[in-house]
Order: sequence, then C-alpha cells, then structure tokens
Amino acid sequence: MKAMVLNDICDLKEKKNPLQLEDLPIPVPEEKEILVKISACGVCHTELDEIEGRTPPPKFPVILGHQVVGTVKEIGRKTNRYKTGDRVGIAWIYSACGECAFCRDGNENLCEAFKATGRDADGGYAEYMTVPEDFAYKIPGIFSDVQAAPLLCAGAIGYRSLRLTNIKDGQNLGLTGFGASAHLVLKMVRHKYSGTKVFVFARSERERVFALELGAAWAGDTDETSPEKLDGIIDTTPAWKPVVEALKNLKPGGRLVINAIRKEDRDKDYLLNLTYPEHLWMEKEIKSVANVTRNDVSEFIKLAAEIPILPEIEEYPLEAANEALLELKERKIRGAKVLKIA
Ligand SMILES: [Zn+2]
Ligand SMILES: [Zn+2]
Repeated sequence: MKAMVLNDICDLKEKKNPLQLEDLPIPVPEEKEILVKISACGVCHTELDEIEGRTPPPKFPVILGHQVVGTVKEIGRKTNRYKTGDRVGIAWIYSACGECAFCRDGNENLCEAFKATGRDADGGYAEYMTVPEDFAYKIPGIFSDVQAAPLLCAGAIGYRSLRLTNIKDGQNLGLTGFGASAHLVLKMVRHKYSGTKVFVFARSERERVFALELGAAWAGDTDETSPEKLDGIIDTTPAWKPVVEALKNLKPGGRLVINAIRKEDRDKDYLLNLTYPEHLWMEKEIKSVANVTRNDVSEFIKLAAEIPILPEIEEYPLEAANEALLELKERKIRGAKVLKIA
C-alpha cells in the first residue's frame, strides 16, 4: 500500500519534505481489530507537533494522521460490531486501558495507557490501517468522506473544548486562532446557542474575514480588546501571546480553555507580560484540554449530523501531504485540510 511515512523528527524550517512516500505491506488486523481501506484523512496541527518533536512518536517509522474515514475491508476473528463494507471513522483516541480510575469514570482521555492514532499506532496518511473495533465510529450518511474527516478531531476536540468553557446560551464566547477546530466551534455555537455572540481573535486577515463570513459578531487581531467582555475563550494557537492577550478580555469568573497538545516556545517570553490584577484576579481560570474520549467523538458526530455542520474543506492528494502540512505551518488556512486517498 502507499503511505506517507515519517522516519524521524525534524525541523520544518530546514526540511520541507518531512514525509516520504513509501510502499508498505497492508497491515493484518488482530482478533479484536478491523482493517480499514482509507478514503480520506484530515491534516491536523498535532502532526506538526509530532514531526517537530514536541509530542514525538515513540517509534519510527510511523504513519501520521488521526481523522480517518474509510470502509471496513476485513474483520478480526473476535469482532462483532462491523461487517465488511461498513463506512467508519477513526479519531485521535486509538485505545485506552479501560480499567483504571480515569477510564472507569469516563475520563479515558486522561488514561496513562492512552494511545494516539498516528503517533503511538500507525494512522491514516496511507491506503489502509487497522484499529480496535471499539475505537471506530459509524459515519452518518449526510457527510461525504472528506467532510466527515475533520469532524473526527477538529470537530470532536472543539466540542470538548466548548463543553469545558462552561458557556451557557446568551453568554459571550471568544475564539483566539481561527483554524479547522475554531471554525467548527463557531458553526456549532451558532446552532446550539443562538443567543451567544462569538468574538474571534486572529493574526491573519484571511482568518478574520472568514470568521465574519461564518457569523462571528466581531473579529480583531490577537492583541485587540474585544468590544464586550467574554465569559469563556478557547485558544487554538501554538503561541503564548494569544493566551496572555485573551485573559484581559475575560469576565470575572470566566475561563480560558487551551486547546493545544503542545505550545511552541518561540514567544514564551511574552508570559512575562502577565500581570495578576489584569489577567488572573477575579477568579479567572485557565484550563487545558487533553485528547478526546469516545463519547466526545460520537456525541459530536451525532450533533454535527443533526444541525448539520458541514466543514469547509481544502483537498489534497495523499502525495501532497507535505505541502498541506507546510501550509498549515505557515497558517495558510481556510477551513480544514483533508487528504483524499484513492
Ligand atoms: Zn488532531
Ligand atoms: Zn485507563
């Protein structure tokens, strides 16, 4: 099978083609796994964190990609959820132990044995992959394969982030950074919380224009002051300046949720601008969001089909994965980038 393979971590400033096109054997499903023939895989900022070593894969070579849509090609001996030909999705959560206190309480995203698709196990930048059947999802017919792909990470993690802000209908929400996940949050909020105004902070003019087109009440640069104070803010940027600048716009008791698996250190000095009275006093909170649970994924897919939320897509062939990743790095973004395979 064709696969775009990462052989080692590298600096994307020096190496523009981190992934190599290779011909690999089709994987064989174990007894509780299914083999999926992949038709689409979303491109996520987390792949940049893996390639550049901020959340390095434990072994090389590895196939990245964790927003995977395809059809079941073969089923393991002890599976019973799917038959060949079923359309399924695979998300960032590849497996969790199922037995620890976190797993038993529905917090499998925090499990110590958490395994991530496309990092700890081979993912979707390829023609085939295997996955435990309990960690695959049925995809509603309303979505095409490429439309469904970004729902599986950008959408699901956006859903989790929105939930963690504790926002209620009518309260003001801020989004700092406006990529794949944030644009889906905006679409979700406009349907779920019709009384909520969304304020978008983005460095790029293109992202600000896009946010206003999708119904944001206001869009400004990262360090601007929003015209109204905000009850909750979701940060999806790789940097620190947006965090500090967002905190000044929070209402008393408001919460900032950081939806990023890792932050880059480039502007870490900016944290010295943090002042207690302006940014934290009055019970302001900062919370990170880690991974997703299977419930986040399946609840979000269901909601997205009901509304419906159809993501804005930029398509690339599998062989152009490097180009898609570089554009993401350079923040040339409009919606969600998806590899269309086969
Ligand atoms: Zn992702
Ligand atoms: Zn566990």
